[in-house]
Amino acid sequence: QGEQLRQARNMETVGQLAGGMAHEFNNLLTAILGYSDLLQKYLANMAHLHGYAKQISDVAHQAASLVQQLLAFARQQVLKPQILNCNNIVHETQDMLRSSLGDQIELINHLEPHLGLIEADPIQLQQVLLNLLVNARDAMPEGGKLRVSTANVDLNERHQERYLNAPPGTYMRLTVSDTGEGMEPDVMSRLFEPFFTTKEVGKGMGLGLAVVYGIVQQNRGDIEIRSAPAAGTTVHIYLPHVARASEPVALPKPAAEAPSG
Ligand code: ADP
Repeated sequence: QGEQLRQARNMETVGQLAGGMAHEFNNLLTAILGYSDLLQKYLANMAHLHGYAKQISDVAHQAASLVQQLLAFARQQVLKPQILNCNNIVHETQDMLRSSLGDQIELINHLEPHLGLIEADPIQLQQVLLNLLVNARDAMPEGGKLRVSTANVDLNERHQERYLNAPPGTYMRLTVSDTGEGMEPDVMSRLFEPFFTTKEVGKGMGLGLAVVYGIVQQNRGDIEIRSAPAAGTTVHIYLPHVARASEPVALPKPAAEAPSG
């Protein structure tokens, strides 16, 4: 409990700082990206100079995506919660990432066709999934299997035996599982710490899982991570179903009149 509180305070302070800096930094990046685009255009027929301009642009794009993470972390984005089917987010996010997976990583989906709806900001949910997929990819430099699955689960039964903090009820479960390098216990214990990373400079800022944690908490959900060195990692995200009324059952309407009110 005390540890969680400390973590939460820590994240709030870092979040405020990060939010302010990210905004300033974003403005600078916009200028860098603009000028490097111009450079690339005018240097089109000077091969090596054009190459430098392209490098500036690539690095600036990388920095921009880090800033996005910072902003997400600081939660300064305007949230637009919607009632949505997580399966659609899975498809959209995988489309964004597919080209960076290479042919060594096999993508396997097991998506529940009658998935219960949740209420969340689709961009936030994309961010959650993207961070998990990127971590899975980075854990499998030699290739492997990246499984994504969705399911409806009742947390009433699982509750007793698990440490989950989510209140009882029915949940949508999103699972991302890899056959990568897995984690040692000392890494496991620091996972959600802002700026904790084992990746090389420029590859990770250590905000991915802190962002995931924040978003899941904000949506009254929970997260469960299992990992073993050399065996792989499985991350479960639980998000509460919206009220029964919006269950995604696409049955034809019965002839009888529904009671009104
Ligand atoms: P980043 O990806 O920027 O390092 P994260 O907060 O997403 O930040 O992850 C923190 C650390 O947790 C990673 O650097 C890595 O050591 C470990 N990690 C996260 N996901 C996985 C995974 N699927 N397999 C192995 N290690 C992981």
